[in-house]
Amino acid sequence: MEMKMRFPDGKTKAVTLSYDDGSRHDVRLVNIMTKYGLKGTFNINSGLYASENEKDAWRLTKEQCVELYNSNGMEVAVHGLTHPFLEQLPATVQKYEVLQDRINLEEEFNSIVRGMAYPFGTFNNQVIETLKECGIVYSRTVESTGKFALPSDWLRMPATCHHNDPRLFELVEEFIKDDEYGNPKLFYLWGHSHEFAKDNNWDVIEKFAECIGNREEIWYATNIEVYEYVEAYRNLIMSMDGKRVYNPTGCTVCFENGDTVFCVKPGEIIRI
Ligand SMILES: [Zn+2]
Repeated sequence: MEMKMRFPDGKTKAVTLSYDDGSRHDVRLVNIMTKYGLKGTFNINSGLYASENEKDAWRLTKEQCVELYNSNGMEVAVHGLTHPFLEQLPATVQKYEVLQDRINLEEEFNSIVRGMAYPFGTFNNQVIETLKECGIVYSRTVESTGKFALPSDWLRMPATCHHNDPRLFELVEEFIKDDEYGNPKLFYLWGHSHEFAKDNNWDVIEKFAECIGNREEIWYATNIEVYEYVEAYRNLIMSMDGKRVYNPTGCTVCFENGDTVFCVKPGEIIRI
């Protein structure tokens, strides 16, 4: 039995971005992403928005965030209420930082928030336990793998690379060229948009988006969309003889079996 997950429409590749802190430079970043069809996740500290009378602050106001991310189909995820070193805090305060951020974001963005990126990238086992208690299903670290594998531990989720990684365009080229129909591949880029301003290198993300964006063979998704899709695939149910597959989930799921791609709709049983 050779069964391999495929992304929606049978695609083998997916790209997602993850950018932190809700800085005003996210406006320019989202413009670039939208132009090239990229999707991603913005990790926000809902306790640190700029106030209405400091619109030139480096962070966006709450209203600016809602307008920017919601109207462009981006995911908003937890980054701690006040961007703390979570592992330095007592467990109860960790929980407050995560849950209150989640509660605020859900209300403000009219969504259900289950994703996160660790503030400062730091955590320990206690923080992981806290996240589980808060219903967080994935959390991004600051680790770069230089690879395109799907995460094996979603609460210690690494990235492919940061946008300042010297291997960035090598990796992009490798990802685009790869036409081996093996395991599904995910290019996961992370960073902070204020770094583009500080380093004066907006050309990096422009070039990245131009190279990897607007391609028919790639699925562009937010972090939670990738998570939910992989979960849905894992929830497929197969008959003992391997000939029937049932999709009990809410999204259409694709996989390859032999040389054929099958897509199973929610609630459907197909014969393979
Ligand atoms: Zn941050």
